[in-house]
Parts: sequence; C-alpha cells; structure tokens
Amino acid sequence: MPLPYHPMDLGRYAVIPVWYACNNDCSICMLSRVKGQMPNVDFATFRGLVNALVADGSRDGLILSGAEITTFDQLEDYVRYAASCRFFKKIQIQTNGRKLADQTFLQRLVAAGVNECFVSVHGPGEVHDAVTRVPGSYRETMAGIANLEACGVTVISNTVLTALNYRHIVPLVRELCAAPVSEINIWNLFPMEPRDSRQLLVSLADLAALLPDIAAAGTGAGKPIVFKAFPECITPGPPCFFDNAFPLNLIHDRFWCEFAANGFGTCVYKDRCGARECWGLSSAYIARFGDERDRLTPFQ
Ligand code: SF4
Repeated sequence: MPLPYHPMDLGRYAVIPVWYACNNDCSICMLSRVKGQMPNVDFATFRGLVNALVADGSRDGLILSGAEITTFDQLEDYVRYAASCRFFKKIQIQTNGRKLADQTFLQRLVAAGVNECFVSVHGPGEVHDAVTRVPGSYRETMAGIANLEACGVTVISNTVLTALNYRHIVPLVRELCAAPVSEINIWNLFPMEPRDSRQLLVSLADLAALLPDIAAAGTGAGKPIVFKAFPECITPGPPCFFDNAFPLNLIHDRFWCEFAANGFGTCVYKDRCGARECWGLSSAYIARFGDERDRLTPFQ
C-alpha cells in the first residue's frame, strides 16, 4: 500500500530572493550579517530571471523570498508577472506569515498567483516570540496560517531546530499536525560561522532522542515531517524524511561567500556512503560535538 506522504520536491523549484527588509528580528536569522549589503532585485532583473527559468523549463516551482517578502510593496506585481507566464505550477512565498493575518492583503496575493506558502514557526507561543524578538508574532503567524487555509493555499511550515526551541519541538509538531499545514519542515541551523559561538546547535544525540516522539506525532496526522540539512543516515523512516534536495537559489554571490563559513559536507564516511545529497556535518558542529563517527552509518 502506498504511504500517505507526499513531501514537496524542492529540486523542482527555483528561488529568487528579491527583498531584504524584515518585520521580525530573529536571533537565528542566517541573513543577519549580510542583509544590509544585499541589493534588492528590481523588476527588470526579476523578469529576466523568470524568463530564463521558463525558457529552461526544468523547474515549475518558483519561490519568492529574501528577508520578509511580504514587506515588499511590489510583491503583488512580481507574483502577477510570474503567473502571467503560465508555466509555474507553484508560486510560493517564504514568509514569517505575520502580514497574512490581514485577509485583504492575502487575498490580493492569492489573486495575483500565490498558491503555496512556506511559513516560519519556531516554537509554540512565547518560544516563537522569543526567537523572533517580536511579542505577539506567533499569534499573527498562526492567524496567517488559518487565513491561508481559507484561501485554499498550500502551507508548509518551516522550523529551524536550535537550543532555543529543542525542548518545545514535540509540542510544536503536535500543534502543527492539528493546524492546516500539509507538510512540516525542520531545518538544521546554518551557523554562518565556523564555530557555534552562540551555542545554538543541537547535538545528533539530542535530535535522535526526539525523533520517536516527532515520528509518532506525524504518523497520527498523516503529514510528512521533512528534515533538511541533517545527516541522512539518522532517519527513523516515514513519516520523517531526511531530504537534502534543494532548489536552485538565484541569490547574490555575497550570500554564498558568507554561506561557505558553514563548512557543510564533512563526514568521515563520505568516501564509502551511498547518500549522494547528504550535507554531512558543518564545521561548527564538528568543532563543538566531534565528527560523530559512532553515530553516523554509511548507506550501502
Ligand atoms: S554516513 Fe555521512 S554521508 Fe552518509 S548519510 Fe551519514 S552523514 Fe551523510
């Protein structure tokens, strides 16, 4: 019998980050060091990138992102242009969801062509607000998710696993299972530095201790729980998917210079493991917790 899980295939998507302002102040933001140095993408450039994706024809999912895309006052025009190409099956925005609590605002985006949202939720209630450093942001984000359901928009939740929310992940997953969310994504932290100077990383031992309860919550709900940028060999199996397919990201080169500091891709078993997309461990993780050779298990 086929499993009732259909995780999003990010390999079919391209991301165009267009805007670098934000209405949150997340302590885990991977753009915090570069936001001020990243140029916004003007409409002519956006149109050129979209036209190139249409001509290429291999990615029928488009993601508009940046810092907080809903604070960009031309978003509707950008979405409308992408939809007018009549090529993309999915037009997604990556968002903290707060502005989607405004139904009129959301309805305009949906009318322009948005049909999928990737919404960041970093913990239940006050845990989320502590990460975003905006009191009341959780309430607005969850109101946005409820409005998305009413508009028939697919919602994928995005949670970055850190020491700040580790103890609250299982209750959060239960909450998201009960919410109108079709898929739950849990992302590894990108420290954006070679050492975990903020002590935000969660060890594989701690993650492994959580997995049975996370899996139990997802099994009951029939929702895929997708782990991104973690070692693939620690997966407990469905409904948890350790998936490292990533979209084509058309972000400015300045970002990739910063991203290189993460040093992902290290694994003592890399030369004999069959996992082709696995990111292994980051430099910051190894510096803090070691290479985990006793915990990782190469695939045949
Ligand atoms: S053994 Fe290493 S490369 Fe293979 S899945 Fe595990 S972490 Fe990834």
